[in-house]
Amino acid sequence: MNYSHAFHAGNFADVMKHIVVTRLCEYLKKKDAAFRVIDTHAGIGRYDLTGEIARRSPEWVDGIGRLLKAELPAKARPLVEPYLEVIRGLNPGDRLETYPGSPLLVRTLFRPQDRLSALELHPEYAERLGRLFAGDVQVRVIHLDGWLALNAHVPPKEKRGLVLVDPPFEEKGEFERLVDGLQKAHRKFPGGLYALWYPLKDTRAVHDFVSALEATGIPRLLRAEISIRPASNPPRLHGSGLILVNPPFTLEGELRVLLPALAQVLGDPGQGRHRLEWIRGEAPAAAPDPGATRARTGSTGSPRPRRA
Ligand code: SAM
Repeated sequence: MNYSHAFHAGNFADVMKHIVVTRLCEYLKKKDAAFRVIDTHAGIGRYDLTGEIARRSPEWVDGIGRLLKAELPAKARPLVEPYLEVIRGLNPGDRLETYPGSPLLVRTLFRPQDRLSALELHPEYAERLGRLFAGDVQVRVIHLDGWLALNAHVPPKEKRGLVLVDPPFEEKGEFERLVDGLQKAHRKFPGGLYALWYPLKDTRAVHDFVSALEATGIPRLLRAEISIRPASNPPRLHGSGLILVNPPFTLEGELRVLLPALAQVLGDPGQGRHRLEWIRGEAPAAAPDPGATRARTGSTGSPRPRRA
C-alpha cells in the first residue's frame, strides 16, 4: 500500500468526483430523514496544498485551481456552488491552502441527523482521519478493508444513503473488485445510491468493466465521464469516470450541464470531452425516494464522447 492521495488531492479527477458527490448529498438532504455516507476508501480527509507533497506534485493547480478561476456557464454555477462553498469555508480569503477529501466534504455538507462511516486501510491515514474527526458523533472512522465494508456495513441503519467506492487503482484487479463489491452490496441494499470511481487510462479495461457491470443485471447504472486529453500510448490517466447506481432523477439533467462545463475548464485547450450514458436503465416503477428505494425512470444518454 504505497498510494498517497496527497499527491493527487484537488486534481481534475477529485474535482469531478467531489462535485458529483456534493450533488448526491444535496439531493439526499431534500428529505428530512437522516442518511449515511459510507466512504469505503476514505483517505486522510484533509490535504495541505502548501506542503512539500503538493509542491512536488501540484496536480491541484489544473484541478481546483482552474475551477476557482473559471467563468462557468450560468446553468452550471448554482450546481457547483455548494462544493465551492465547502472549499471557501476551509480557506482564508482568496487563498487556497487546504483541500477537503471526500470525508470532510460530505461531513461539511451534513445536517445534524446525517452520518458518515469512513473506512481506510492504511494505518497512518486511518489514524489521521480519526484525529480529524475526534469527538464528532456524526462520523465513525474505521480502520478496515473497504471491500469488506461493502458487504458488512450495508444496509446502513438509516436505510438511505450513499456508498462511495474510490479505490486507488494501484493494484491489478480493482475493476473486478468494484463489480464484485457492488454486486454484494446491492444484494443487501438495492435501493442505495452508489458512486464508483474509476480512471480513464486503459481503454480496454474500462470497456470490460462496463460490460461486466451490464452483465450483473443491476438496473439503473449511469456512466459519467470526463476526459481532459485524448487517450495515449503508453497509457496515462486522461480522464475520470463514475458509475452511479440509482441516481436521483435530477442527476442526469445536472450532469448534462456539469460534465461539458467541467471538461472544458479542466481539459487541455480544446481537448475536453464528456460522456453520459445509461449502462442499464429500468422500466418505470413507483419509488419516490432514491437513496432509500429505487428511482423512477431510465433513459438512454448519448453513446459517444461529446465535445465539451
Ligand atoms: N475518497 C478519497 C477522497 O475522495 O478524498 C480518496 C481516496 S484515495 C483515491 C484511496 C484511499 O484508499 C487511500 O487513502 C488508500 O490508502 C486507501 N485504501 C487502499 N486500499 C484500501 C482498502 N482495501 N480499504 C480501504 N482503504 C484502502
